[in-house]
Amino acid sequence: MECTRCGACCVAPDIAALNKPVGLRCPHLTDDNLCAIYERRPQICRDYAPDEVCRMIEAPTLEERVRKYLALFGLEAEAQTVREHGCRSMRAARRLTAK
Ligand code: SF4
Ligand code: SF4
Repeated sequence: MECTRCGACCVAPDIAALNKPVGLRCPHLTDDNLCAIYERRPQICRDYAPDEVCRMIEAPTLEERVRKYLALFGLEAEAQTVREHGCRSMRAARRLTAK
């Protein structure tokens, strides 16, 4: 599976090493969906490899791909909470969504 540099994996999942909440663009993702800190990106980003999820979330726009990713992993409610609260921190988002 080839990475198409669609950007979805830098937007949809939360990333603890960056304190990035679910569903929000990583602040290091450039407008053309490249990593602005590629040489010093965290290990989790280095280890990420394209897999069947990339194929499952294929869609014409990044927004749609992110939506499909969130649906696939049941993260829509958490992402909505993050959006509603303008939450920029993963740890704060986790507290907000903790049951
Ligand atoms: S979601 Fe998959 S195809 Fe898209 S940038 Fe990430 S690894 Fe590449
Ligand atoms: S640090 Fe770079 S590779 Fe990692 S999520 Fe952000 S933009 Fe993507």
